[in-house]
Amino acid sequence: MLLYDLHSHTNASDGCLTPVELVERAVACQVQVLAITDHDTVAGLAAAHQVNQALGQPLTLINGVELSTHWHHYDIHVVGLNICPRHVELLSLLQSQQAQREVRARMIGERLTKAGIQGAYEGAQKLAQSSILSRAHFARWLINEGYASDMKRVFKRYLSRGKTGYVPNQWCSIEEAVTTIHSAGGQAVLAHPCRYQLNRKWLRRLLTHFKEVGGDAIEVIASQQSPQERLLLKQLAQEFGLYASLGSDFHSESPYIELGKNLIPDLDCQWIWQAPAWPV
Ligand code: AMP
Ligand code: MN
Ligand code: MN
Ligand code: MN
Repeated sequence: MLLYDLHSHTNASDGCLTPVELVERAVACQVQVLAITDHDTVAGLAAAHQVNQALGQPLTLINGVELSTHWHHYDIHVVGLNICPRHVELLSLLQSQQAQREVRARMIGERLTKAGIQGAYEGAQKLAQSSILSRAHFARWLINEGYASDMKRVFKRYLSRGKTGYVPNQWCSIEEAVTTIHSAGGQAVLAHPCRYQLNRKWLRRLLTHFKEVGGDAIEVIASQQSPQERLLLKQLAQEFGLYASLGSDFHSESPYIELGKNLIPDLDCQWIWQAPAWPV
């Protein structure tokens, strides 16, 4: 059986490794099929393919992306797998999402300034270098400056919904994300369904909507999750007629999350790689 990891980040978005380092790490972790799914960008893919080729193609590298979408008051993430990274409609959506990120980042900076925290925008931008700006960059800057001790606390105190540094988003709709992923030849996967803090009723609403607009799969297995969560997600996938996907959502070295870690697909599911659309 192959070891799949269908959700990961590089420093083209808010991951800490370069695409080259990510590919090398995936190989070291014995991953065989890796999807790189950066937030609202495909900029990391070319370098990843290059190094994979130079290494003799130890990985089957899947072109992916993770689109931020807006649904009710939630930020819902939709992963696209096997997308064509040159597809015009996809590129135009990415461009508008990136413009949105820039506007939002400035607003986050302004809000933090008003709250007495100077230089957050510039600091986050410096950490992001030329990659796209994420709240994760603000979080890292705030931690470096001593405003909080870790990522969980910094989000809770400053960056999650309702807090000083949170700006209501203007992302595309779930439908637009799914449609664009499809037109770029890919499959649309609802990322980490249990991370939106939705109660059961709202989670079902989300899945109903995702299915209605043509979504293909949901993530059922993650590196760090309870057995109960896995079982719930497996049952929901079955109930809604969605394929199951899996991924670590790796961003950087951590004690809990690692490429390929705990991702054995030992559940009775219809896996996304068994779908007719999956390239062999
Ligand atoms: P953005 O897409 O700019 O809104 O930033 C969201 C990113 O911040 C996510 O992809 C995660 O990498 C990170 N993030 C969000 N919430 C948390 C949290 N509670 N703890 C750690 N990282 C988080
Ligand atoms: Mn992220
Ligand atoms: Mn996500
Ligand atoms: Mn992710």
